[in-house]
Amino acid sequence: MYKKPEFDAKYKEHLTNKIFDLKKKKGALIVAHNYQRDEVQEIADLTGDSYALACRVKEAKEELVVFCGVKFMAESAHMLSPDKTILLPVEEAGCPLADMATIEKLREKKREYPEAAVVCYVNSTARVKSESDICCTSSNAVQIVKSLSQKQIIFVPDKNLGRYVAKHVPEKEFILWDGYCVVHMRLTKDEVSKTKEIHSEAKFIAHPECREEVLELAEYVGSTAGMIKYVKESTDKVFIVGTEKGIIYRLNRDNPEKEFYVPTDQFICANMKLTTLGWLVRALEKEVYKITVPEEIAKKARVTLERMLEVTV
Ligand code: SF4
Repeated sequence: MYKKPEFDAKYKEHLTNKIFDLKKKKGALIVAHNYQRDEVQEIADLTGDSYALACRVKEAKEELVVFCGVKFMAESAHMLSPDKTILLPVEEAGCPLADMATIEKLREKKREYPEAAVVCYVNSTARVKSESDICCTSSNAVQIVKSLSQKQIIFVPDKNLGRYVAKHVPEKEFILWDGYCVVHMRLTKDEVSKTKEIHSEAKFIAHPECREEVLELAEYVGSTAGMIKYVKESTDKVFIVGTEKGIIYRLNRDNPEKEFYVPTDQFICANMKLTTLGWLVRALEKEVYKITVPEEIAKKARVTLERMLEVTV
């Protein structure tokens, strides 16, 4: 059996102490997405989903923020808090889903459907947001689409989330972008069914970025924040979790008496896992990598985020 070498724990302690010292010295705030490594979530001041974190960053007093997540998240944080310095510890930490939509292709689609409203999932680049009418998260997408007067909706970039929303808003016509989360798409119906057979008492909770046939097996479908709330309030004790494995850290922390299973060990977002404690030390020491969005793009993209807020508050 593999035994973790002792130096791992010592090295972790060394890095953790360094992070706390640097954080204090620089007056920095560290925020981490629910899919980050356990040890990164452990040392973060705040954990949550991307939009909630961007809003918390805006409210925070700290001017220097390390965003442990992927690029589009740091971009949203910067757009909502343009006077703050937002650092992404690993410059290459991108999101394949966000990169599946480009502003050029979106313009083409808009020309094809001039009457349609463009709803962009928050998992999109700042440029795509700037070319959209309104933004949405996985928690509020149905509400956002229902609030629009247009009958046609171009939903970008996640087709699975778009299809899920379309089911809940049958009165609208959806033009779905052919994008998907490479991680959630990995989960198959068979893997869920097999896990359900093993843990017959478990409730299956799934993220709407999963395939349609996977969502059909779910007792609850929602965002990571929705899942965390659902599990906390549920009287059930065993759950099969249909989203990136990193969320298990938070679910275990909040519900030590409950059990969680993932249907596949492949449920890992490589981009999210790029951020390590070592890179976090480097980010604080060198104040890298500063994420900024050119103001002409940020100005338009911010409007889409603000419109979303107007609908949801
Ligand atoms: S889990 Fe999917 S949507 Fe989230 S960052 Fe990874 S690839 Fe992008």
